[in-house]
Amino acid sequence: MAAPVVQAKDDSSITVQPSGAQPSTVGPPDFFTGTARVDARFQGTGWARVSGGTVTFEPGARTAWHTHPLGQTLIVTSGIGLVQQAGHPIQIIRPGDTVWIPPGVKHWHGATRTNGMSHIAIAELLDGSAVQWLEQVSEEDYAKAP
Ligand code: MN
Repeated sequence: MAAPVVQAKDDSSITVQPSGAQPSTVGPPDFFTGTARVDARFQGTGWARVSGGTVTFEPGARTAWHTHPLGQTLIVTSGIGLVQQAGHPIQIIRPGDTVWIPPGVKHWHGATRTNGMSHIAIAELLDGSAVQWLEQVSEEDYAKAP
């Protein structure tokens, strides 16, 4: 009987994760306002600390305030989005924009009121965690978007 064809799971093989290999998940309401869908989650193996996924925000949807222990890179792939560092104005982000959020910086990101937005999010894990969640972004703060 032939051996089953199974993708190797060790640390030394390249992994191609086919599009759609994982079901979409929804950002939990404790950490998101509105609907945010997460697809194509990934995590490095072995000594690698990289992790991430693609997040799609419906119009009006955004993360709660949060920090990343080792920072985060966002690459906007569609729509029109927003990002804000605490104490700074909200910035508009568009497809092709690359955003670097330094370690420990309090911020949120999401869609505009009228347009959805997708970004690829990449962050390194520290002690198994890539994010620390804080309070929700209030309607008052969100309404300050340009
Ligand atoms: Mn973030």
